[in-house]
Amino acid sequence: MADRAETQTESLFGAEELAAAASDAGARIQALRREIEHHTYLYYALDAPTISDAAFDSLMRELRELEAAHPEFYDPASPTQRVGGYVGEQFAPVVHEQRMYSLDNAMDLDELDAWLGRTKEALGREVPLVCELKIDGSSIALTYEDGVLVRAATRGDGTTGEDVTVNVRTVRDVPLRLRAEALDGIARTGSIELRGEVYMPKASFEALNAAAEDNGRAPFANPRNAAAGSLRQKDPKVTQGRDLSTFIYAVADEHALSASGQWELLEWLREAGFHVNPDVKRCETAAEVHEFCERALEKRQSLPYEIDGVVVKVDSFALQAEMGFTARAPRWAIAFKFPPEEKTTLLRDITVQVGRTGVLTPVAELEPVVVAGSTVARATLHNLDEVRRKDVRVGDTVIVRKAGDVIPEVLRPVESLRPADAVPWEMPAACPSCGAPVVREEGEAAFRCISLDCPAQALERLLHWASRGAMDIEGMGEEIVARLVESGRLTDVADYYTLDEYELATLETGRSKKDGTPVHLGSTIAAKLVAAIEASKGRSFARVLFGLGIRHVGKTTAEQIVAAFPTIEALSAASVEELTEVDGVGGIVAASVHSFLRTPANQEVLQRLAHRGVNLAEEAPAEEVPQTLAGLTFVLTGSLVESGMTRDDAGARLKAMGAKVSGSVSKKTSFVICGEAAGSKYDKAVALGVPVLTEQDFLRILETGEAPVAPEAE
Ligand code: AMP
Repeated sequence: MADRAETQTESLFGAEELAAAASDAGARIQALRREIEHHTYLYYALDAPTISDAAFDSLMRELRELEAAHPEFYDPASPTQRVGGYVGEQFAPVVHEQRMYSLDNAMDLDELDAWLGRTKEALGREVPLVCELKIDGSSIALTYEDGVLVRAATRGDGTTGEDVTVNVRTVRDVPLRLRAEALDGIARTGSIELRGEVYMPKASFEALNAAAEDNGRAPFANPRNAAAGSLRQKDPKVTQGRDLSTFIYAVADEHALSASGQWELLEWLREAGFHVNPDVKRCETAAEVHEFCERALEKRQSLPYEIDGVVVKVDSFALQAEMGFTARAPRWAIAFKFPPEEKTTLLRDITVQVGRTGVLTPVAELEPVVVAGSTVARATLHNLDEVRRKDVRVGDTVIVRKAGDVIPEVLRPVESLRPADAVPWEMPAACPSCGAPVVREEGEAAFRCISLDCPAQALERLLHWASRGAMDIEGMGEEIVARLVESGRLTDVADYYTLDEYELATLETGRSKKDGTPVHLGSTIAAKLVAAIEASKGRSFARVLFGLGIRHVGKTTAEQIVAAFPTIEALSAASVEELTEVDGVGGIVAASVHSFLRTPANQEVLQRLAHRGVNLAEEAPAEEVPQTLAGLTFVLTGSLVESGMTRDDAGARLKAMGAKVSGSVSKKTSFVICGEAAGSKYDKAVALGVPVLTEQDFLRILETGEAPVAPEAE
C-alpha cells in the first residue's frame, strides 16, 4: 500500500490532495473505532447487541484494512489491537496466567489457502492439522487443582476475565473432578487449566426466548449471547435453569500434559470426562481440510447447536511453539468463517423503478458486496415510507442482509458514519420512464405513474405475463420483450400470440461490435420461443388471471377467485358483491377485478386471447391429498435429524394432509413430534399428558398417510 501511495505522489496527486485523502481516512478510522467500541460494550457488557456479528465483523474488517493502509494512524488502544471483550464489575476479576487469545479469520477458501500456504512455508513442509467446528458460544477457562474444579473464568479482554465459578459449577457437563484414569496424563501435579466454549443448544435458546416473550422480558439476540448472559447471572440457580453445555478443546499450557499435540489433547480431554465435540478430523492435506469445511457448512443447519465456522490448528505442540503468536492470535491456527449473511457497504444512489401497475419503487444502488456467497449491488427499498422509516440516505454506510439467503435487503444505516451533507431522500415528482406527474392515492404507501402510455409499465406488464409464476414463456426475457415493444410488435399480452417464427428470427437484438452490422435473434431461439408461447396457452386459468396483472390480484387470490368462478364468462358476469363472497377477496380486491373486467380495452384483450386459444377456464382439479389429519393439531420440536427436514417443511407436509400446526403445546395439542435435542416443549407435553411422537412416527405418517393413534384411544 505504501508503495502505491508513493507512485501516486509522483504521477497522480499533489501533496495537498494526498494529505486530504489521508485525513479522510483518518476521520473514517476514528469513526469506525468509536462505533466498534460502542458495539463491543453492548455485546459483552450488556449482552444486548444491536447489530449482528456479521455486520460487526464487516466494520472491524474495514477498520483493519484502513489501518493497514495508513500505519500513521496506529493506536495501541484501537479495537483491532486487542481481543474483543469487556470486563464487568459484578464478578471478581481473574488475571489469566496464559493469555486467552482470539483467532485470526479466513473469510473464504482463498484466505484459508493463504494461511495453509504460510504455515507450510513457515514449517518447511505440509504438516498434520486438526479441524474442529467453531462453536458459537462463550469462551471459558476451567482450572483444576489436584483434579478438582476450583475456578472458572470468562475470557474477558483476553488478559483479565470474570470469575464465574459458582455458575459454571451448575453446568452439567463440566466435570467437578477429573476422572482418575486421566490423571496419569498430567505431567505436573498441581493445577491445570482447560479451555473451551460454553454454549446453549438452539432448541433451549428458542424455548428461553419464547418464555421471555411470554413474560414480557426482552429476548436474547442469539444463542451465543444467551450463553454469555446465562453465565453471568448473579443467582447461580438462574444459570442452572438455562440448559448450558460445553465443548472443551484446549489446554492453557501444553507442558502441563503429556499429550504431544491437539489430537492427543482431545483424546485426553475425553478420557478426563470433558464433553469433546465428536466432529473433529486430523487432516494430512489441504484437500482434506477443504472437504471438512464444506461438510461443516452443509451440516450447519442440522446441528443442534450453532457454529460459525471451522477452526484449523497445527496438530503438533512443538510446531505450534515454533510458529508462535501475533499480538492477538496464534499463528498456528485459523478460523475459517462461514460466509456471513450480513455486510456493510456504501449506498451509492437510490433510483426509481416503474412497475407494471405504475408503482414507483425506490431501489438501493450499492457498492457491490459479497453477502452469503454472492454479490449484491441492488436491493429494493419498497416505498417512500420504508426509506423514511429506515432513514437511509445516499452516501450512507448501510447494513445489507440476505433474507432467507436469497433476497438482498437493506437493514439500516450506520448513522455515525453518515456524511455531513447526506439529505433525506425524496420521491421524484415526475415518472422517470415517461415524465408524467407522479401521484399518491389517499391512504396508500405507493406512489404511481398513472399515464397509460408509460412504456415502463407496458414492458413490466408484458414481462409479468411471461414470467415463471404466470404464463411461464421460457426464454422471453427483458431484452427481447423490450425490442418487441420498441418495434411496436408488442403492446398488450394478446400480441404474444400473433408473433411468428420468421419475425422473431429476424428481430434485431443489437449491433455487431466488430463492424456495426445488425445482429438478429436467429432461427434456433425463435423456434424455441414460438414453442414456448404455444405451450403457455395451456396454463391454468388462475395463472392467466394472475398474469393479467390486475391490481391486488396475487397468485393465491387468483386461485381463490378461479375456484369460485371457473370460467371467464362466469367471472365477467360476477358483481362486486358476489366477488366479495370469495374467500380471501375483500372489497378493494373485488372492486379492482370488477373494474378491470368492465374496461372495454381489457375485454378486447381477453377476447383476442380466447380467439388465439389461451385457456380461460379452470382445469380439472389435480388429485387431492387425502385429508387424514383433519381436526388434529401438531407441535414440532427439536431437529429432525434423520430426514434432515426443517420444521417448516415438516409442518407444511402435515398441513397438506389437513392438520393444524401450532408453535406451542397446550391441552388442545393432539400430538407433539419430538426430534433430537427437544427442549421445553417436550417437558410441557409430558406434563399435560399430550402424546409424544418420534421422528420415525412422523415419517410413518407421511409414508402411510394414516393418522397416528393416541394412546388412550388404543
Ligand atoms: P473470535 O471470538 O471470533 O475471535 O474467535 C475466537 C474464539 O472462537 C475463541 O476465543 C473461542 O472462544 C472460539 N472457539 C469456538 N470453537 C473453537 C475451537 N474449536 N477451537 C478454538 N476456538 C474456538
